Amino acid sequence: MFSTELINKLKKFNTPFYFYDTDLLHKTLFAIKEAASLFQYNIHYALKANANPKLLKIISSYGFGADCVSGNEIERALHCGFSSDKIVFAGVGKTDLEIKLSIEKHIYSINCESLEELEVVNSIASKENKRVRVALRINPNVDAKTHKNITTGLTVNKFGLSIDDLHRIMSKIDKYKNLHMDGLHFHIGSQINNLNVFSELSKKVNTIQSYLEEYNFYPNHINLGGGLGINYQKPEDQIPDFQAYFKIFANNLNVNANQSIHFEPGRSIIGQSGMLLTRVLYTKETENGKLIIVDAGFTELIRPALYQAQHKIVNLSSNDCNETYDIAGPICETSDYFGRSVKLPRTKRGDLIAIMSVGAYGETMASQYNLRSLAPSFYNDVISYSALI
Ligand code: PLP
Repeated sequence: MFSTELINKLKKFNTPFYFYDTDLLHKTLFAIKEAASLFQYNIHYALKANANPKLLKIISSYGFGADCVSGNEIERALHCGFSSDKIVFAGVGKTDLEIKLSIEKHIYSINCESLEELEVVNSIASKENKRVRVALRINPNVDAKTHKNITTGLTVNKFGLSIDDLHRIMSKIDKYKNLHMDGLHFHIGSQINNLNVFSELSKKVNTIQSYLEEYNFYPNHINLGGGLGINYQKPEDQIPDFQAYFKIFANNLNVNANQSIHFEPGRSIIGQSGMLLTRVLYTKETENGKLIIVDAGFTELIRPALYQAQHKIVNLSSNDCNETYDIAGPICETSDYFGRSVKLPRTKRGDLIAIMSVGAYGETMASQYNLRSLAPSFYNDVISYSALI
């Protein structure tokens, strides 16, 4: 995975920084495009996973749509080449300004998550004298069997409309004169590796569609969200099995004539294409064992602190025999660790460390806590010498 040439290149940069393999991104995009076309599925890349403009321009060049959760994401998607009629907009807390923006930009669908939001979208659309396409985001109460902080489809979660809400909407659908109720939207969680979860989701969607038939309501589109996981333990497992993933839906979901099927993958597209490079600042012995302090922290990658995520960590400067280390960042917070009891070749101050699989929810979740600078990004196909040591 790391040629001597690549390691020598990476060693020339100030740390911390993100490094993206755009060749792998292209291969991943090609794979998902090919798999989706087998089933005639539509892909909307979820910008929240990574909204780096250079990467977005690559992703949009494959003709995919975008899944956005803020007005700024809509603006960024448009700027980076996504076509407005392929943008979907979800989120439990859309502001009036964001709703107005999405109406002005003629996006594909506003995915509404509450009864009150439907009223607000209807009233803003009425003031603009428009009829707006919306999808109803339903909370199907399906357990994604993933970390609780990235579970979104249970009734205890804040997302989506309940089945009771759905019945209420159907019984007075004529009152939403400025809405074109076009679709149903679901997103039950992220980093889902148990594909049975998606067959359960499909069956739940079938049941919900049968309720809707009682109202003579046949959605034109079904959006099944994102969620497919990646292999954090084995980053060399570079491209998820998109065909197996789509096959689960093809085998379990009832699709009506003329109904289009949509997905919003984020992590599975960009996750394995990024790594975070950091240097060892200090090593110390504690009563608990050996501790390495690196110059990246949860400001560059918050997943371990927020989701107890375990990313593979590699020392690019040492081939020595293995020792066991805890690996922490410099942030003044107890949770600022990248790993506990990690086996690494004997490590010393100045060693270059790669934290793998950070393409998704790394750079987009970065913060400037402790007044730290945002880390730059470099790419395998473009090397910017301004950042050289
Ligand atoms: N769609 C919605 C509504 C989301 O909230 C998310 C992420 O949480 C995604 C899509 C992308 O999910 P993933 O990166 O797991 O594919």
